[in-house]
Amino acid sequence: MQETIDIDGIQVSALHYIDGERVGSTESFVDHCPIDGREIGHIAAGLDAHCDAAVDAARRAFPAWAALGPQGRRDHLLRFASTLRRWGEKLARVESEDNGMLLKRLRGPGIERCAHNIEFFAELAMTLEQGAIDGEKALHEVRHDPAGVCVLITPWNSPLMLTTWKLGPALAAGNTVVVKPPEWAPLTCSMLADIAHEAGIPRGVINVVQGIGQTTGARLVANLGVDRISFTGSVPTARLVAGAAAANLVPVSLELGGKSPFIVLSDADLELAADTAALQYRNAGQVCLAGTRLLVEKSVAPAFMARLKQTVSGLKVGDPRRDDTEIGPIIHPRQIERVAGFVDRARAGGAEILWGGQRHAAGDLFYEPTLIAGVAQDDEIVQNEVFGPVLVFQTFETEDEAVALANGTRYGLAGVVFGSDARATAVAHRLRTGMVWKNSFFLRDIEAPFGGVGESGMGREGGPWSFDFFCDIKDVMTPKQPYRPIFAGR
Ligand code: NAD
Repeated sequence: MQETIDIDGIQVSALHYIDGERVGSTESFVDHCPIDGREIGHIAAGLDAHCDAAVDAARRAFPAWAALGPQGRRDHLLRFASTLRRWGEKLARVESEDNGMLLKRLRGPGIERCAHNIEFFAELAMTLEQGAIDGEKALHEVRHDPAGVCVLITPWNSPLMLTTWKLGPALAAGNTVVVKPPEWAPLTCSMLADIAHEAGIPRGVINVVQGIGQTTGARLVANLGVDRISFTGSVPTARLVAGAAAANLVPVSLELGGKSPFIVLSDADLELAADTAALQYRNAGQVCLAGTRLLVEKSVAPAFMARLKQTVSGLKVGDPRRDDTEIGPIIHPRQIERVAGFVDRARAGGAEILWGGQRHAAGDLFYEPTLIAGVAQDDEIVQNEVFGPVLVFQTFETEDEAVALANGTRYGLAGVVFGSDARATAVAHRLRTGMVWKNSFFLRDIEAPFGGVGESGMGREGGPWSFDFFCDIKDVMTPKQPYRPIFAGR
């Protein structure tokens, strides 16, 4: 089978990476470029034997990696991060070509964040074993022991960032991992294996098994040799993954989709709010955190909408590798069908398409930034994540109404509130979401908790919360008084 794929002169392995070796398969799947729809190449599809071999390799590598301690692992991980930075330009170009993300966002901030995901947790792990509780009866040394073998599963919308965001804490905590990249954008995860190899990460510590979710992913999460499953993806898949985890009683972390409210109060800076609302179309709306429900106080709705329309009309849709592009392609023909289906059903149901609502002339996989009004709270387009450049618009007259609309879906990932600090804070406190940005959007600090409530997920990533998941917390007790067993009659 095809061993490497050429992306604009960059060679990317199409094979698995198991126990420090590249491994092929008798089966493959096709990877497409969303920019022009062309076939990029055939990627090894993980069979049961590959999944089991990767988990076994991770299991064998675990004792030595765990025994290195935080300091020893830090040295490895800092080398991994600096190697990743050296590969930065190649990673950015391959990711943009493979999943259609804006190249200008990947270069610089995107790659830097990936390296930081590794370095930050390598350093934080050094502080982990210092917990001590002076109890009434004993001194408690609270240890963060590595959990063992972790399966890391990521979606296609940001595979490099999301994989490093899991790899950093999992490895720094002393675990070994099996990465299952997304089948619609598998290439940069393959490059991470080469980076690990070049950085001298011991064999078996990082394994990558490519493949289709329903087969390869399902086999990995059902493997009894797995101690943690960290999953980022959609709600329907999360139910299957959580079911497999439940069957084996393996802790699972779920970072899922959203339908986040974007609330604009009457005392907001309307230009700032509208320009930030336009940002929700970035990456063609394929962003879990996007505030896709615009909820605007009625008295300022006309002024807000005028500015939003003006800003959106200036957004260039097209090739994500160009610096002037703001909205790239939709990842896959199936995904653009899904997006178009949502809009068509909303239109057929009587909703008003304020702008967009059709494919964009830039190419087969491009969709116009779309705004839909005239919707009821229980409409499908209000309740379900589209994961495309489609926003809905609703108005409210009171804060109570805004909060009721905002909290009126089964999701709860993030929220955005624009208004005076006092009002925005009051509303933010009432939102049932894992995160809220006041008068801003997408400020993501690695030391802060990240995650959702309801159908947006279970568990938190970021800072010490990542280690809560990737570690077994152990209490080692030393008696405070001389200890004697007491028996009746003595
Ligand atoms: P998806 O659920 O279809 O796939 C995610 C991953 O799961 C892929 O790697 C896939 O191969 C794998 N998978 C599929 N079936 C599986 C199974 N039965 N067992 C194990 N693994 C399986 O999601 P997607 O379409 O790739 O990604 C889009 C979704 O991800 C959206 O809902 C988006 O909101 C969400 N997302 C969430 C976050 C977050 O941090 N909360 C970040 C990015 C994306």
